[in-house]
Amino acid sequence: ARAELMKMEKMQIVSQMAASISHEIRNPLTVVKGFIQLLQTGRLPRETEERYIRIALEELERAEAIIRDYLTFAKPAPKETEPIDVATQLQKVLQMITPMAHMHSIHVSSSLEHGVVIGNVQYFQQCFLNLLKNSIEAMPNGGTLHVAAENRGASVVITISDNGVGMTKEQVRRFGEPYFSTKEKGTGLGAMVAVKIIEQMGGTWTIESAVQKGTTLTITLPASRLRPPTAEQSAAG
Ligand code: ADP
Ligand code: MG
Repeated sequence: ARAELMKMEKMQIVSQMAASISHEIRNPLTVVKGFIQLLQTGRLPRETEERYIRIALEELERAEAIIRDYLTFAKPAPKETEPIDVATQLQKVLQMITPMAHMHSIHVSSSLEHGVVIGNVQYFQQCFLNLLKNSIEAMPNGGTLHVAAENRGASVVITISDNGVGMTKEQVRRFGEPYFSTKEKGTGLGAMVAVKIIEQMGGTWTIESAVQKGTTLTITLPASRLRPPTAEQSAAG
């Protein structure tokens, strides 16, 4: 019965995500199509053509950014939910973002205990990639990013701290709201995707933030007693 339930939840996540993605990418693609059709007439002044090409490219970049917020780790046949070792998976995401952090003079530190939670590994990674990317983007002039995972009995608590631009009360309140972004080229979807994934795993999150001081995100996930698959088993699936 437990396996059945997990399967159903999994299907639900997948179909919800698929529906959102196709919805989100349709807009920029429609715009690109429209401008290309206009260009196809071949009767536009040179400057207009250049402007339309620029808009089309910007919209394609936007579509790319949306796909990154949802599907960075997507595989053709995603696995169902499974026990996840948070330290191992957070380490993988940290490895991905560390070059980007160093480019922005950001020091990355971590203290990761081996806690186990139940979820879909791809979504888990997507969730933390989106959150860590936000922390890095909050420190355009450098800083420190700290990630910790701690076992607390029935829960695994993950904290992400940065000493970046911080958030106002209003921004904290709107965190996770679709399209809410303070960035010029932001999608406003990364936090929403992360929050949805946390909720799907039965977790909760809180934000502590001060403008120009920094932000700490605390994510609490239910701990599992199951054993995560070995690296080999994971790679095979
Ligand atoms: P995007 O990154 O594309 O703007 P997100 O949904 O990922 O969209 O984030 C929404 C908004 O939340 C950001 O634009 C930013 O204002 C705020 N935010 C998220 N994380 C942080 C953080 N660590 N520090 C400051 N602001 C943040
Ligand atoms: Mg983001």
